[in-house]
Amino acid sequence: MALRGSAPVDEAALWGEYPFLPGAERLVGELAISIRDLITDPRYDPVRSIGRARALAGADDPRGTAALDELASARPQERYLSFLFARLLLASAPAPAALRRWAVAEAKRAYDRLADVPFDELVEVARRLGCPLREEPGARLSIDLADYVRLSVPIREAKFRLAAQPLRHGRIALDRARAARLLEEAVRIELARPRPMAAEVERLVRTRESAALEELARRVPVPRGRGPEEPARLRPDLFPPCIRKMRRTLEVGENLSHAGRFALAAFLHRAGADEETIVDAYRGAPDFDESITRYQVDHITHHEGGRGYEPPECATLRSHGLCVREGDPGAPSPADRARDPLCFEPDLRHPLQYYRIRGGRIVADPEREERARPATSAGERGARRPDGPEKTRSTDRRR
Ligand code: SF4
Repeated sequence: MALRGSAPVDEAALWGEYPFLPGAERLVGELAISIRDLITDPRYDPVRSIGRARALAGADDPRGTAALDELASARPQERYLSFLFARLLLASAPAPAALRRWAVAEAKRAYDRLADVPFDELVEVARRLGCPLREEPGARLSIDLADYVRLSVPIREAKFRLAAQPLRHGRIALDRARAARLLEEAVRIELARPRPMAAEVERLVRTRESAALEELARRVPVPRGRGPEEPARLRPDLFPPCIRKMRRTLEVGENLSHAGRFALAAFLHRAGADEETIVDAYRGAPDFDESITRYQVDHITHHEGGRGYEPPECATLRSHGLCVREGDPGAPSPADRARDPLCFEPDLRHPLQYYRIRGGRIVADPEREERARPATSAGERGARRPDGPEKTRSTDRRR
């Protein structure tokens, strides 16, 4: 198929450029190649090599700026097979974050092209991704409101805020760059979704690609914030629901607001997490950058000689939409109370207070730790509010 416009693009070229599009597998239909062939057949050594480079480039550089010479000169069939192979490799990688980082890198690579192609190609790719764009007068495009909301939610740039968008007949107008950015998000979501893989295929990949998988694990280590390796004093099972939700958001590769990222790092530090554990909590972020994250975590945790920044209190988190308590705190419904009654305690003012009441230890402030002893029952909580970090903040008049 040729696209309309002055620079027609045929199907093969389109699938080679965008191998995640539905139907791209037809590119290799005539080869009668099996998954086993792709993993083991010497004829496919070159595409496996490009596939490994794709996977490792994503692990290294999720901004997608790593140039892959082999990919640039590959034919459409090779491009597609290398993409498929990278996906198999990443499905077998020990850290789920490797897949998410690769998804970001591939999506950004697609963006670089989409931001520069004729409108026809942009519109065709959008249609095949299931978020159709419409050409409008004046070299503009538009997208359905529901698609806009779905794709723009993880984007933090102010110009994508829904409130700033003129809405006309249920559609939102876009220029080329914003349309390409939304499609980048559509690609990232599509690629970050884990795919079930047959146990036999996974075994084959693990056996044949152990070196590449080891290299992936070295570049994207398995988070140490969970499981038996977690520092004993950190108790994620006692974290308040807002903090648990922030962690989950990042783990599934969704975006977390600036305020949420700060709150999470500051909380984890006070709860006793070491720097590696805190950095690991951000590995799933769609825009994760190890050096920037380390810099920011370092800045938050080394404030005031290592005491770290004060994590925000409940009221602040609520104003940022980060408190997950629902309903009216003055008159919570039985369902609200059943969900997490502690969050409805009138005296609960701080996530660290929640953590302490549940039995967690706050370790970054030994002096206060000494003063405060966790309450053990609702009655005790009502009689005496345990000292919370909020008490030390001179800016809060209520304390
Ligand atoms: S009430 Fe406080 S501790 Fe509970 S979810 Fe909201 S912000 Fe977190």
